[in-house]
Amino acid sequence: MVLFSSFDSHCHLAQNFSEEHISALLSSNPYLHCLSVSTTLEDIQITQILSQKYHQQVFPAYGLHPWFLPNDMHQSEILIEQLNTVLRKEHSDMTAIGEIGLDFHPRISVNHDVQIYVFQQQLAFAAEYELPVSIHAVKSHPEVIKQLKAFPQVKGVIHGFYGSSELALSYTRLGFKLGVGPALFRNPEHNKLVQTVKSLHPEFFFYETDYPNTEILGIHSPADVLHVMQKVAELRNEPLESLHTLYRQQIGTLFHVKI
Ligand SMILES: [Zn+2]
Repeated sequence: MVLFSSFDSHCHLAQNFSEEHISALLSSNPYLHCLSVSTTLEDIQITQILSQKYHQQVFPAYGLHPWFLPNDMHQSEILIEQLNTVLRKEHSDMTAIGEIGLDFHPRISVNHDVQIYVFQQQLAFAAEYELPVSIHAVKSHPEVIKQLKAFPQVKGVIHGFYGSSELALSYTRLGFKLGVGPALFRNPEHNKLVQTVKSLHPEFFFYETDYPNTEILGIHSPADVLHVMQKVAELRNEPLESLHTLYRQQIGTLFHVKI
């Protein structure tokens, strides 16, 4: 059911890439729009092709995700140079820089100094090219906040936000939005995000699926971003239409995208 246009503010169309699949997805949902974020240089190339082909529905974000960085500073510097070559050429056709950030979960073996260096460089690109960012922050909030404070002109979205209202406020005070996504459907009994979604003003919410990484949570397409919005409307006891109107304004302001 698509009553009006929707916008998935964080998904990975380049992953699981099959031209047929993407074409079927977008043509069967003509009112669906996606910010398609990248994780590697290879991903950027595919995202670029998709955003050119489906330019009315796919908005590109280019960036290096912390999970896929080399564990070596010198190689990371080379990677950053290669990214900058792409950004210098493409920045006027891009919607955002992402997915970038810090992941200090013990299962991620990438050295923290490398992660911080690459994150700082990409925030500096966001400042230079005047682009918003889509941020991955796992077990790293104090360091992410510290880095964001060094770039006060950079704004964006904390993707896949899962945390308390206090944490949410420390981001919104920096001018950041919270990416509300499938985490809302996790552990209905003790879900920190549910309280946050109920207590904060909805002007701070951007809606996302993180497709295709969230099939386990019942998300089978970026079009399911509407389920996320419906859930928020239900939790807040607010009409979906008013959330949608507010969201459209916010997307226009941050991403300069009109839907
Ligand atoms: Zn993602």
